[in-house]
Amino acid sequence: MRVRSPTGMPSVADLVDEETVRRLAGPEAHARGTTLADEGHVRIGEFGPLLVSASVDDERPHDVELRAAGATLTYTCTCDEAAGGAFCAHCAATAIVTRRRSPNRA
Ligand SMILES: [Zn+2]
Repeated sequence: MRVRSPTGMPSVADLVDEETVRRLAGPEAHARGTTLADEGHVRIGEFGPLLVSASVDDERPHDVELRAAGATLTYTCTCDEAAGGAFCAHCAATAIVTRRRSPNRA
């Protein structure tokens, strides 16, 4: 995992690089997440360095939280797939929107 960490504490945005999101989600959830992000189904709530929350409208709304816990990305979503521990399409969509919104620090 690549982690850009200028201050020593990676932010959520640092932890959702494309490679990581693809690996966590798998191709199917990643593709679905990309579609949800592209079609504007992600409504960001909080957008902080250590917590990003969103409501993702996928037939019904699902509440997603992505957190940076040290160098680890943790995630929750209210859908059934995430209840089984999966990084679901809603988590992927939120991660993709987080990356797009984040200022490029380079
Ligand atoms: Zn979900």
